[in-house]
Amino acid sequence: MRVRFAPSPTGALHIGGARTALYNWLLARGSGGAFVLRIEDTDRERSTPENVAQIIDALEWLELDWDEGPFSQAERRPRHEEAIRQLRESGHAYEHEGATRLRVPDEGRTVVRDAIRGEIVFEHSAIDDFTIARSDGSPLYNLAVAVDDIDMRITHVVRGDDHISNTPRQLMIMRALGHEPPAYAHLPLLHGPDGKKLSKRHGAASVQALREAGYLPEAVRNYLALLGWGYDDTTTFFTTEELIERFSLERVSKSPAVFDEQKLRWMNGRYLRELDVGELRRRLERLLGRELPREAVAVAQEKMQTLADFWPLAGFLVERRDYDEKAWGKVMRDGAVENLARAREALAGTEPFDTKHVEETLRRLVDELGVKPKDVFQPIRVAISGTTVSPGIFESVATLGRSETLARVDAALRRAGADQA
Ligand code: GLU
Repeated sequence: MRVRFAPSPTGALHIGGARTALYNWLLARGSGGAFVLRIEDTDRERSTPENVAQIIDALEWLELDWDEGPFSQAERRPRHEEAIRQLRESGHAYEHEGATRLRVPDEGRTVVRDAIRGEIVFEHSAIDDFTIARSDGSPLYNLAVAVDDIDMRITHVVRGDDHISNTPRQLMIMRALGHEPPAYAHLPLLHGPDGKKLSKRHGAASVQALREAGYLPEAVRNYLALLGWGYDDTTTFFTTEELIERFSLERVSKSPAVFDEQKLRWMNGRYLRELDVGELRRRLERLLGRELPREAVAVAQEKMQTLADFWPLAGFLVERRDYDEKAWGKVMRDGAVENLARAREALAGTEPFDTKHVEETLRRLVDELGVKPKDVFQPIRVAISGTTVSPGIFESVATLGRSETLARVDAALRRAGADQA
């Protein structure tokens, strides 16, 4: 199997393109074949070096490595011109007002045998002679793709189904050049959860946005694989090795697949909890560009779904933070300050200052005061984190350590005193 990914570098790599790349890569790896990367950069205005770099960068982040390329389609122009000459000389194409057109017979039909959709029939009576080169001699899209797929000895063209109407034209060009075309598979469109075509409205629509939002490439691969493909009706988690082994075009669905970022978040959370703390810490440090204490990472791991969740959730374990005024106003009332003062006393004497003993201390205090647990825990939470959302309160207090916890509680008590005065 020789497959290719042939993006037009018009900006970021979108989810749909990433799925196309992944499916091709899985087919190549699963068959011991080759994955060819071809950059379709003939639109010189949009195909900037930055856009090409973005695509390459996104593929590298997804860890989809290619065996051949990246080839520039624009640089292959002499080959495309040669094919145009050949088609004119053989009579398959002719000149019309300076441009070159391919002759499409009035009779008959071109049948695309699609691995996913079955036979798709195109009646020639519905296809006009079409342009393959402009009057300045520059080759058109379908010509370039057909010639490149032949020259690169592609055996399976797997791409989005927005290309279906191009396929009969590419088949005609290949046959006119004397080649048998490869097999084709057109992947179903991607929709958002609302049933509309996938766009930015549905959240992170590009690979770059997914990376910045803190998803793990292995979770993204797993999730993308399931957009239109399934092994059975129940299995959701696949290692990349399992995907390579099990993926096949036969099990790709014809109907549109739904990209649901909430599902990806959930799946990513599962992957994230399986990382060992050291690895999670490395990835967080890379994303945030700073060093992080191991204990803070360990404490946050249970509650994170993406790497980007770490800082809002657990940044207070790394540095002090201003109070969220809404949280402060909601929590610091009706005896909360007294409870906080009592908690300070109790924590000052907790020995050793670890999660287990902090928990015992605070639960005992709750009993003594005859209040609800949250009447003691929430004021502490606001005092140490500035907000009402944090990882487990006992772990958080123990991770901060006695002196930092007491210092923050004291600061909160001072603030409460000033508020009252
Ligand atoms: N360059 C086309 C695109 O980005 C893909 C062409 C193909 O796969 O044949 O949509």
